[in-house]
Amino acid sequence: MLIFDAHLDLAMNALEWNRDLTRPMDEIRRRENGMSDKPDRGRGTVCLPELRRGGVGICVATQIARIEHNAYSPVPGWRSQAQAWAQTQGQLAWYRAMEEAGQMVQIKDAEGLDRQVRLWEDAVAVDTGPQLTDEANSVLANAATNLPVGYILSLEGADSMVTLKHLERSYEQGLRAIGPAHYGPGVYANGTDATGGFNAKGRELLKEMGRLGIILDATHLCDDCFWEALDLYSSAVWASHQNCRTLVPHNRQFSDEQFRVLIQRGAVIGGALDAWMMVPGWVRGKTTPEQTGLKLERIVDHIDHVCQLAGNARHSGIGSDLDGAFGREQTPADLDTIADLGRVPDLLATRGYKEADIELIMHGNFIRFLRETWKSPASRKEA
Ligand SMILES: [Zn+2]
Repeated sequence: MLIFDAHLDLAMNALEWNRDLTRPMDEIRRRENGMSDKPDRGRGTVCLPELRRGGVGICVATQIARIEHNAYSPVPGWRSQAQAWAQTQGQLAWYRAMEEAGQMVQIKDAEGLDRQVRLWEDAVAVDTGPQLTDEANSVLANAATNLPVGYILSLEGADSMVTLKHLERSYEQGLRAIGPAHYGPGVYANGTDATGGFNAKGRELLKEMGRLGIILDATHLCDDCFWEALDLYSSAVWASHQNCRTLVPHNRQFSDEQFRVLIQRGAVIGGALDAWMMVPGWVRGKTTPEQTGLKLERIVDHIDHVCQLAGNARHSGIGSDLDGAFGREQTPADLDTIADLGRVPDLLATRGYKEADIELIMHGNFIRFLRETWKSPASRKEA
């Protein structure tokens, strides 16, 4: 089944973790033997071959670079906005290099989206089965081996936007979604673990995003900014990698009240596989997946919670966040690579989800959301 993953920090891994994502997973892990500069060395779960193996044909891929501050952040910060901008431009250069190599393809409008969906659905629709020889099965299973992974460019934390003119330049480069904040206070907005609303620049940013038709990613907004953003912003909103506060009490997760408003606004919410957001009481760097017995199946609890709030399966999706500055030390114990996302449809079926709803969750909802958002980009731009 085609999988749409709404949050992957691919370029950050390529440039800051120095991972060649075109290589096989075991090679990427082996190359990190003996390295201890980051907690997840040798434990990565994402590379382009594994995305293809899992059927993840479309993802939302980030640019991410923040300004340093004193609060906790899993990624270090830059000393100036100019440096953060330069970092995100380097990340874009890596995506462009992947496009030139045929490894990835950028999706920035409805036509591009439809093209990519058709390409992958043709490839993953081929049914493998026990009635075929091993050889035939492996030929069919490899049908997607050489397909480019489609990506929609997003920005996690808007600190790198030196001016609003930079936002327009980014839109021209294909930027289609922005989460204004990340961890702690930001240049425009306050994120996870922080409090307080948007400053004047942040409100200008929202206005310009609305003019350009850029999707507002509500994930990482602190509660004050979240409510203010939903008041101020009338264009499309989603929550790209977002779990439930009811299941895991922490301000990083959203409350039922927040989800209800997002659902009302037509948002899609991507369930995340970062262990500390999946189970309560997880201590980064201490708790292990084995200790908690955390399994991939737990993601279904978060997905199901959103579906129960909505009364349907039209607002849930996947936003795995895998290799978002953590690796297997902070993911479900039974997850080896991102290709394991291919097991989620069966886990949903075991909980009683019907095939049509499983398809919505695995890709249909985010694709529908984008089609609706991109229906009339010209009229949106003039609005
Ligand atoms: Zn994040």
